[in-house]
Amino acid sequence: MIQPISVPAAEQIQGIIQMRDVVKTFISPAGEFTALKGINLALQEGEFTAVIGKSGSGKSTLLNMLTGIDHPTSGQVLVDGVDLYAMSESKRSLWRGRNLGIVFQFFQLLPMLNLLENVMLPMDYVGKYEIDQRPKKALELLDLVGLKDQAQQLPQAVSRGQQQSAAIARALANDAPILVADEPTGNLDSQSACQVIDLFEELSRKGKTIVMVTHDPSMTERASRTVFISDGELVNETIAQSLPLLTHPVMMELGHRVVPLHFQPGATILERNKAVDNLYMIQSGRVDIVLKERRSGEVIISTLERNDLFGEMELLQGGRSIASVRASLEGPVDLLALSREDFQWLIKESPLTEKALTDMVRTRLEERKRPDRRGRRRGLFRK
Ligand code: ADP
Ligand code: MG
Repeated sequence: MIQPISVPAAEQIQGIIQMRDVVKTFISPAGEFTALKGINLALQEGEFTAVIGKSGSGKSTLLNMLTGIDHPTSGQVLVDGVDLYAMSESKRSLWRGRNLGIVFQFFQLLPMLNLLENVMLPMDYVGKYEIDQRPKKALELLDLVGLKDQAQQLPQAVSRGQQQSAAIARALANDAPILVADEPTGNLDSQSACQVIDLFEELSRKGKTIVMVTHDPSMTERASRTVFISDGELVNETIAQSLPLLTHPVMMELGHRVVPLHFQPGATILERNKAVDNLYMIQSGRVDIVLKERRSGEVIISTLERNDLFGEMELLQGGRSIASVRASLEGPVDLLALSREDFQWLIKESPLTEKALTDMVRTRLEERKRPDRRGRRRGLFRK
């Protein structure tokens, strides 16, 4: 049986933006509809996160919780340690202007203002720069997005790609550390979309935290992290990364079946020669695979890290653990454990995953038989 040293998922997460058990239920004459079903998400500073999901999956609702445009039915949103929904409405609005830049799918530039004036609007609201500094700052931002020469044009006089670039410049007006974008490429041709993504990538390199939601998988390639949302729930990222061949519904179901485990540095996770009853996925930290050698004592034959898995060899072959597995001394380890029964269910649901795991085990066993000089058991537990 698994003995979870349980830390609630919501407590573990840290980051510049934290959503803790966020639920959003809309109440309309037609009845209740829960669009977000307990979202736990932490975004790290400087990360470029893509949130991907089908239309209606809850992407915009999720962003509206982050920006404070709407409010959760329950749960918390902390941004840089500040509880967004403990603030008064007016404080939240000012906070948003200072800390967030928001890019909308339909640009939402004011048609009677030229691009420069559009970019200056948020500056006027927050009052971050002196009045006489604002045009210069706004022009610098338009230059950054390649629109310096169009500064005096009205929105309708430039292309849609350029309008979206101007909207990004506007989102950057107060040099907010976080940029939030709702399908920013949804109304652009592929070339303009590519320019927008280039720009996001560059901003992320410069240290901005970016959250972009999209329904288009091709837009996520250059994000540093991708999070899937389906029917108001996030797919567990460790599951998605360590078992990538599963369908999203199976990933989602596994998310309900796994048990989180926490180990202190150096703690034993599996003992050699003991039966293995779970598949383990590494959420954070590193684990050492340790063998006892007659002559040299203990030897670390491999180190596994985030999104690696172990236990599959024993589960597939019915054997006992051939080595001990320990949390590395450098820090604590968080794992997800999947029971033998759930593992059987998983490989029945996904023949592709079963084949990939079986191939992986076979390769590892062959490598064991053919020791090479660089490291005898290298690759034993490695993909
Ligand atoms: P996405 O942005 O992924 O397309 P949304 O977050 O806009 O999805 O919507 C998620 C679900 O919540 C949809 O089924 C939508 O119909 C519903 N929804 C969104 N806003 C409201 C609202 N104000 N009242 C009732 N239902 C809503
Ligand atoms: Mg939407």
